[in-house]
Amino acid sequence: MSVEASKETLEFQTEARQILHLMTHSLYSNKEIFLRELVSNASDACDKLRFEALADDSLYDGDSELSIQVDFDEEAKTITISDNGIGMSRQEVIDNVGTIASSGTKKFLEAMSGDQAKDAQMIGQFGVGFYSSFIVADKVTMETRRAGAAADEAVRWESDGEGSFSLENIEKDSRGTKVILHLKEGEAEFASPYRLKAIIKQYSDHISIPVMMTEQEMDEEGNPKKDDDGNVVTNEERVNSASALWARDKADITDEEYGEFYKHVSLDFADPLTWIHSKVEGNQSYTSLLYVPTNPPFDLFDREHKRGVKLYVKRIFIMDDAEHLMPNYLRFIKGVIDSDDLPLNVSREILQQNKVIDRIRGASVKKVLGMLESLKKDDDKEKYETFWKSFGQVLKEGPIEDMANKERIAKLLWFASTHNDSDEQNVTLDEYISRMPEGQDKIYYIIADNYTAAKNSPHLEVFKKKGIEVLLLTDRVDEWLVSHLTEFDGKKLQSVARGTLDIDEEEDKKELEEAEKAYSSVIEHASKVLEGKIKEIRLSQRLTDSPSCLVLEEHDMSPQMQQIMEAAGQYAPKSQPVLELNAEHNLVKKLNDITDDDLFEDYTHLLFEQAQLAAGAPLEDAAGFVKRVNKLLEK
Ligand code: ADP
Repeated sequence: MSVEASKETLEFQTEARQILHLMTHSLYSNKEIFLRELVSNASDACDKLRFEALADDSLYDGDSELSIQVDFDEEAKTITISDNGIGMSRQEVIDNVGTIASSGTKKFLEAMSGDQAKDAQMIGQFGVGFYSSFIVADKVTMETRRAGAAADEAVRWESDGEGSFSLENIEKDSRGTKVILHLKEGEAEFASPYRLKAIIKQYSDHISIPVMMTEQEMDEEGNPKKDDDGNVVTNEERVNSASALWARDKADITDEEYGEFYKHVSLDFADPLTWIHSKVEGNQSYTSLLYVPTNPPFDLFDREHKRGVKLYVKRIFIMDDAEHLMPNYLRFIKGVIDSDDLPLNVSREILQQNKVIDRIRGASVKKVLGMLESLKKDDDKEKYETFWKSFGQVLKEGPIEDMANKERIAKLLWFASTHNDSDEQNVTLDEYISRMPEGQDKIYYIIADNYTAAKNSPHLEVFKKKGIEVLLLTDRVDEWLVSHLTEFDGKKLQSVARGTLDIDEEEDKKELEEAEKAYSSVIEHASKVLEGKIKEIRLSQRLTDSPSCLVLEEHDMSPQMQQIMEAAGQYAPKSQPVLELNAEHNLVKKLNDITDDDLFEDYTHLLFEQAQLAAGAPLEDAAGFVKRVNKLLEK
């Protein structure tokens, strides 16, 4: 194919176009982030080359000194970012920065807040980094040659960021990518050595690939120095520290540097909440730098959510999203693990059953739990509160997934409780136990769809009366949690809506026995009326104010769990509830005196339906319920 014939113009895909429009027309603050994004892409490209070259050394083609070069031309008003990394083929250019918007682009558009500063900061998080060039440029030229490809197989991409871009084959004498930004009117200030250096220092200092700039030497009067032939004298200067941050000594790293590195690995814009940096030497040597973010990412509960710990071997980037390094319930942790013992050609398959990885993972999980424990212990409770709001629901998956650390994770959990006046989750199981009155040997909880339903549930009545604290569980994951966390510190976790309670004193028990005798025929009659709908009717020990409630037997599946299973397409055995009646309640007492069969049926149905409503369950026959209520109201 001749160079001429290779030129074509392609349209951006809709979402890519929307992003470009945003970049070009509406981002006014934090404009300098374009450089962070482009340097970060260049650094990733170098990492990728280094990794591919592990298997095929010839890709280096004699040049294994990877670096990024930032140049500017004050007169032409251009900035050029070049790297000698992996480069791209024509098809890769089309796929990566062309017609197809990454899945991140869509999410970015959805997540836009309209707040300029925030939206600009989010750009990186959604993988639309390259397009940020158009914040400052009205034309962008990218020339790229894939490592291993011939000089005449290079490609030039060019666009003004409006609707389309052009592609043509060119010659490029070295591999890698060169991005030339033609600065917009009014953005020329960026084409200055001081400005560029300051930005690189601020955002890209921790990048392990050297970022170089060519400097003109100045004479005493501040004019460009010239050699005897009249040529300007220049120097190559490394602008960033260019050493892997995690490999440096802790004492030499400032909090700001930790923060910037976090932003680089996580693509988050906010500062991290906390981090732990440790070097392990001995049997196995590795370094880990693990962060807890402040805010949850937008896809925390997506099935495809990527885990955030990157794997390095001897400073060489191996892979992102190394799921074997962190369990699912710690998927919010970001950072780096760098092993000295793994082979450089480690693959995902090898990782799956690798003893070194297993040990690193086990130790890293313990480190993270330790970090959370100290965050919680900290007198300044605010940080743990922030953590809990962001990731508490995910941590609750811990006791389900990680048997070995179950008790330790359970100690980190916070719950809402009847002890509080608000729906705030801040009661630990240890606190609960410390408040238990003598004689209480169980940890009581209730599960409901929301806080108000939990708090006002008839099941709590007798607990309120006796002053027994009950944990109020309303998160989706709670049902799973308590099915795995059945005991804590030797105490059983007991649902107040299940089985028979043994919190009654002798006196209560006698009363109940007598009432059971008095109600035996009513219960028999009512059971017939509700046949097929319930398992049985019995008199309640839980109710003091409400006439009726539904309970489950100890091992029956709850309606919430049934819903979860059904939503997941699994078979969920339906279990019928037990209807409990409050023998002290006037409505229930009335049943004893009703002689009219129709009326008895209406009352019985209503007692059952009320209990369903209070439990947040849908009524099978809502119209029938309304009719019955109205009939009685009219009387
Ligand atoms: P992200 O880097 O978050 O994936 P970008 O829009 O910045 O999103 O880049 C899209 C893709 O283009 C990158 O994933 C990469 O494959 C490719 N790319 C960008 N810059 C370079 C570069 N300098 N060298 C090689 N590939 C690049």
